[in-house]
Amino acid sequence: MSAQFIQVAIPVPMRQLFTYQLPEQLQSPEITAGERVIVPFGPRQLVAIVIATQTEPDIEASKIKPILSRLTDNCHFNPSLLHFLRICADYYHHPIGDVFQQALPVLLRQLKQPDISDPKLWFACTDIAEETIAALEKKAPKQYNLYRLIASHQGLSWVELRTLGFSKAQLNAIRDKDFVKEQAQPPTVFKYQAQVLIEENKHSLSTEQAVIVSAINQSLDKFSCHLIDGVTGSGKTEVYLQVMEQVLANNRQVLVLVPEIGLTPQTLIRFEQRFNAPIFLHHSGLNDRERLDTYLAAQQGNAAIIIGTRSAIFSPLQRLGLIIVDEEHDNSLKQQDSFRYHGRDIAILRARQLNIPVVLGSATPSLESLQNALSGKYHYHQLLRRAGKSTKAKIELLDVAQQQMEFGLSGTLKHDIKQTLARGEQVLIFLNRRGFAPAINCQECHWIAQCQRCNKPYTLHQGQQLLICHHCTSQKRVPHQCPGCGSIRIVPIGQGTEQLQQRINELFPDHSVVRIDRDSTRRKGELAKLLTEVTDKKHQLMIGTQMLAKGHHFPDVTLVAILDVDGALFSYDFRAAEQMAQLLVQVAGRAGRESKPGKVLVQTSFPEHPLLQDLVHNGYHHFARQALLERKQAYLPPFSFQALFRAEANYPSYPNKFLRALSELPLEGCEFAGPMPAAMEKKAGKYRFHLIVQSKSRKLLHLGVNTLIAAATENEWHKKIRWSVDIDPQDL
Ligand code: ADP
Ligand code: ZN
Ligand code: ZN
Repeated sequence: MSAQFIQVAIPVPMRQLFTYQLPEQLQSPEITAGERVIVPFGPRQLVAIVIATQTEPDIEASKIKPILSRLTDNCHFNPSLLHFLRICADYYHHPIGDVFQQALPVLLRQLKQPDISDPKLWFACTDIAEETIAALEKKAPKQYNLYRLIASHQGLSWVELRTLGFSKAQLNAIRDKDFVKEQAQPPTVFKYQAQVLIEENKHSLSTEQAVIVSAINQSLDKFSCHLIDGVTGSGKTEVYLQVMEQVLANNRQVLVLVPEIGLTPQTLIRFEQRFNAPIFLHHSGLNDRERLDTYLAAQQGNAAIIIGTRSAIFSPLQRLGLIIVDEEHDNSLKQQDSFRYHGRDIAILRARQLNIPVVLGSATPSLESLQNALSGKYHYHQLLRRAGKSTKAKIELLDVAQQQMEFGLSGTLKHDIKQTLARGEQVLIFLNRRGFAPAINCQECHWIAQCQRCNKPYTLHQGQQLLICHHCTSQKRVPHQCPGCGSIRIVPIGQGTEQLQQRINELFPDHSVVRIDRDSTRRKGELAKLLTEVTDKKHQLMIGTQMLAKGHHFPDVTLVAILDVDGALFSYDFRAAEQMAQLLVQVAGRAGRESKPGKVLVQTSFPEHPLLQDLVHNGYHHFARQALLERKQAYLPPFSFQALFRAEANYPSYPNKFLRALSELPLEGCEFAGPMPAAMEKKAGKYRFHLIVQSKSRKLLHLGVNTLIAAATENEWHKKIRWSVDIDPQDL
């Protein structure tokens, strides 16, 4: 008998499955788990995912509503992905419907079935005369490079070209000159052939690298986790490429997770130069249609490689053979709202489920991964030598307490910038604060413009003439007069990147300054464009937030300045020092090359601080081992496991009482910290409180969290507040 009832996951914030009836006319063909169906839910119609089928319902049949229709586009979840998402929902104690929702491209969450046409790719035209090509190379080298890239692959998507920093104008120009054309390409399952590997770009491995490649290659058919710990430029990417080669040759697919692909077009270029195989991208710069293309390419098997940011881990790859997580320490691998998963951690879960290897790489491994490596849980591989020609920049501390400052720059720093520019080299300046100024105030009565909903100062954005709250994004016109005393002496206090750019322009009028932060890179493709301009040396000075520290290598940058690290030295967050150390070492590794060694200047009022001293004199590893010792003594992660309950409401007493009631429950092997007000106690009009549950046993923590969730739904305050659980929280 075919199934008459189904259990489905629905995108609503409830931790349960729902039962529906399958009307007779919808019973054939046989329904399977993973299919999408449309169900009535209250007054709404929603897309739901079939999780299980039943011949007998588990609740009273008269209460069960029939589904409305089945989606017949064949874009269903495969059983392995379905299973994986259930593992994720369990691990993070997150509502299952929302987990499915986040794994599904927007176009597949809609009631309307998407139009699934063949993806369009770019091809080079044949029989173009040699002279014509030579003329293009001379007249328009960028267009020529674009043409060569397309010709060497025969089938590149606009997404790839755009991510690599090419513009639509360049592409249209060579199309109009009949160098390239766009064609729809029906999907074909990827099959390894000899021409997939572009042999001439392959390096012969150093002994260190060869040992790692062979260790991983020996375990391709089983689960194993490898941490490659090697400074920037030590040849990690080369190791990835040579392991991938083997996996692709076995006709399996590879998934590569990176923190932010728009920042690392070089990674993509390296892959393109090595493999003449379909590479699909998954990142925030894609529109809904492009996301669906990547999803389908993974599912139908025509993608050989998928490179993407954290949610690419949900790609429905049918023959996944290897997962690589590059820059595994990077915080952007953890989602910071609703479904708060860590891309690295669930990559390991998925590899375990599929019985395949996972490779983590970093120059500054997270303390979690390092501990797992040192304790023998992961295979630990170190690359101690630099493979290429670059050398590591030196980190120096500048004591700003002793110096005259101008616009946040000390005399020594200004002097060094001048010298660097005079040598024709580039300078990178870090300031982790967007906008013009972090606050404005009245010089007469000291009034400060504050967001009423967050009790925090508004950030001044001079360019837009707006006050923007960086916590809730509310906006306001800049007042001409002080609302307190009527004075017009309203001035900015402190300095953000926008202001720094203006000041640097004044100080170095003969050099071009570019600012790279979230505000200057909002438009699609803008980031890749600015980064290309930097590599092309159109700009000599770069100002950026930590966004600029990720993944990018700037060979002509020989001076990096970090204007302020002191906040991290005295933070309530036990991870702040780790993150600061990672940032310093990462930027030090991204500057300079052998012929032009780089220098990193760190401005601080506390040059004697033991953490800074340890890092500068003994390096990241020494620092990390010290930090691990401290964590061990304090029973902090990775020596214990944490879950964070967050609660918020319009009045502070509600979330506080709600969490207090939870904290009074007896839980085996768990300890509570809190409830306490969140570091940002008020945000967007809501008062926010935290409760941390901690245990030395992951199993007991999970049991404890289950008990707390059950109690939370019964709690008398629960309807008056919003609450959520964060497993392995990163930001406290
Ligand atoms: P990482 O990923 O650790 O930053 P890469 O793999 O990008 O390091 O290597 C840094 C540079 O060294 C690159 O230019 C790369 O082409 C080169 N390189 C890597 N491995 C080798 C090798 N075995 N022989 C020669 N050059 C190499
Ligand atoms: Zn005033
Ligand atoms: Zn606000």
